[in-house]
Amino acid sequence: MQTRPEKNKRWVVKIGSALITADDTGLHLDNIHHWSTQFATLMDDGVELVLVSSGSIAEGIHRLQWKERPTALNELQAAAAVGQMGLVKAYESELRSHGRHTAQILLTHDDLSNRKRYLNAKSTLGTLLHLGVLPVINENDTVTTDEINVGDNDNLAALVANLISADQLIILTDQKGLFNKDPNKHADAELIRNATAGDPALLDIAGPSTNKLAIGGMQTKILAAERAARSGTNTVIASGREPDVLLRLHRGESVGTFLKATHKKLVAHKLWLANQLKARGTIIVDSGAYKRLSDGECSLLPVGVTAVEGEFRRGELVSIRSAEGCEIARGLVNYNATEAALLIGCQSENISERLGYAHEPELVNRDNMVAVNVRHE
Ligand code: GLU
Repeated sequence: MQTRPEKNKRWVVKIGSALITADDTGLHLDNIHHWSTQFATLMDDGVELVLVSSGSIAEGIHRLQWKERPTALNELQAAAAVGQMGLVKAYESELRSHGRHTAQILLTHDDLSNRKRYLNAKSTLGTLLHLGVLPVINENDTVTTDEINVGDNDNLAALVANLISADQLIILTDQKGLFNKDPNKHADAELIRNATAGDPALLDIAGPSTNKLAIGGMQTKILAAERAARSGTNTVIASGREPDVLLRLHRGESVGTFLKATHKKLVAHKLWLANQLKARGTIIVDSGAYKRLSDGECSLLPVGVTAVEGEFRRGELVSIRSAEGCEIARGLVNYNATEAALLIGCQSENISERLGYAHEPELVNRDNMVAVNVRHE
């Protein structure tokens, strides 16, 4: 089965820390040289490229000559600040030798959940691509905390792929791709060459987090592919150590695991909504409402609500779930948590009677709601 598209123009390439740095020697400048040469060739060939590169914390630890990775947040943040300098310097000098500029972009989850900043980031990335510059993106680890971080660069790369409507997300890792069983334990494990992004069987194959593959973050990559598919972006998971891996993919060669996006593309506003990673609260609905909401095409009315959890304000993001905890949709809520709790089971025409006023007849309007296909960890 040949499912790889012949031509695709806009790529996000993500490179993981394990490929970029080694404990004893710091940045793998040789690897960075090889990838950068490929970036330049692809860009000359008309591919619009965005790089999401990890490695700042690992490089910072190396530069500061710390014996082990710290656990204190302020030390991790300091290491990221030091290491990011080395990371961008390496890409910048490599790309300069090919006559290309690079641009550093450090993002937090906050930047992507704030609609105005999200649109600014989108427009800046578009301008840089138009100018033929290579944006080099990382999470802004120096200012992030658990509250506002994306957490891993696979997910960040998928969010960026959504942001720029990339044709392809290429996740370079230290494994050849996704295998049908753990290749460290089974000599007959086979590389999965083609699959569908979002196929639930893939997560089972990658195994629980104690599995060797998952330690390499394979589950995260599969979830990232599922997220990327929302913008119609196909994903390739391949080894960054394969010679000329990016050029071969560009030629249409089958390298690594190809995860095809088969979902219907979400429209821009709903895509932004779907990528809000952190819901402020949860609204539990009855089975009738759950069924109606499944396709994301109807509003959530208070009558279908059975419970409200968390503290949220009007306009904030809530997760809509079944009594069993299965998430069906996310949306911007029209009432705060206290009001929503008072409205449990209420017919819309009785809202003003219960509250003394009524904003809207729906708890979440369908225009501000998106069905959830991507599982959240
Ligand atoms: N942003 C982190 C770093 O540059 C890496 C996060 C990840 O690899 O997922 O060190």
